[in-house]
Amino acid sequence: MNRCPICAMEYEPNTIEQCSNCGFDVNWKVKREQERIKQDQQEIADMTKIIERQNQDESTLVSAYKFRIRAYRNLQQYHEVIADYSKIIEITNNIFHRLDRIHFCEKVGRYEEAIADYTIIIENLSPNSTIRNYYSYFYGRAYNYEKLGRYDEAIADYAKAIKIESKYALAHNRRGIVYYKLGDYQEAINNYINTTEIVPQYAPAYFNRGCAYDKMIKYHEAIANYTKAIEIDPLCRGYLLSKTILCDIILKDNQEVLDLLDDL
Ligand SMILES: [Zn+2]
Repeated sequence: MNRCPICAMEYEPNTIEQCSNCGFDVNWKVKREQERIKQDQQEIADMTKIIERQNQDESTLVSAYKFRIRAYRNLQQYHEVIADYSKIIEITNNIFHRLDRIHFCEKVGRYEEAIADYTIIIENLSPNSTIRNYYSYFYGRAYNYEKLGRYDEAIADYAKAIKIESKYALAHNRRGIVYYKLGDYQEAINNYINTTEIVPQYAPAYFNRGCAYDKMIKYHEAIANYTKAIEIDPLCRGYLLSKTILCDIILKDNQEVLDLLDDL
């Protein structure tokens, strides 16, 4: 049963337009959503007309694409968003529109294209560019290599990011995760240690370290690291569960397990 938000009268979902008690339009949210979709579809139709007009000047064309992108984005039509960014890039050759396109390529799993865009950005921007930190492009490309399971290339790019900015904690942590996926648990741990040396309160790195020790059958070290992660982030169920499972199955530490179950 639903309730009228004004007078709280109960009604069967999808059976009424207005509350029979107070007359409130109970479907206003649905209607507003439908209205928004209609507006976006209209925007796409209008912008398409402008785009298809002959001899359009470039700035009008780019604006029309940008408005159409916004509508496609609202409608979650991401492949169309990517296609329109491609048109804008063709017209303007502006490197930063590639970053916009990357965002949507990553969303729909078009990782190869994201990598190609990052490569062009890396090759064309000066390392001294102040618009965004140059090392973040290597981090971004590495992330896409990782998604494709191209772990060696991912590690190489994380290393490049770290070479430029040695205190890049996230890159150390992610490189650790890639080593972990490759089964090189000791190298993974080294990277997680680098991470927490830079940001001591970064709980995921302790958790990741715990997972690596777990794989190495070093259960006491694993539990110590899970414990540290839980100290920092006591509400994370993943941390609590991992520690509980280890204490229960491996160490047969019943009191610790009971205490942990209390927290879960
Ligand atoms: Zn009502």
